[in-house]
Amino acid sequence: MFSWFGQVSFVPFSKVMEFARHLKNGRLMGTKCKSCSYTIFPPRADCPECMSGDFEFKEYSGKGKVFTYSTIAAAPTGFEALAPYTVAVVELDEGGRLLAMLGDTLDAATLDIGMDVQVVPRIDEEVPQIKVYYTIEKAGVTWKKAPPHTVD
Ligand SMILES: [Zn+2]
Repeated sequence: MFSWFGQVSFVPFSKVMEFARHLKNGRLMGTKCKSCSYTIFPPRADCPECMSGDFEFKEYSGKGKVFTYSTIAAAPTGFEALAPYTVAVVELDEGGRLLAMLGDTLDAATLDIGMDVQVVPRIDEEVPQIKVYYTIEKAGVTWKKAPPHTVD
């Protein structure tokens, strides 16, 4: 399952592996601690606040604010063809942060720290090294999700 995150994955099979199944269905999931209600993304089996291992998945809206961003001109190996490209760290409304590529509905010139954005999970079946990534889109953009309860 974690091969979706890259050919070589150092993420062990774990209690949060359902995250990948949800992503494949277009659902962005964080975890919520059953002991103290702390909510975090990416999912963590053990609560960073109270260390409890009792958690449940919580669906994220993907809404958030730009925490910071950068346009990359000297790309790392494997990303040369994309350069220059813009990435942003998004502070998610439900808690936690993620790194996302700039989507088609936004222009790097109009990006600003603190602006509202919508994160959309993407799965690229054609690039063997990278299958899952996120894009930031204009606030209010929606994306196609699988129907509820379809976790396959
Ligand atoms: Zn907790």
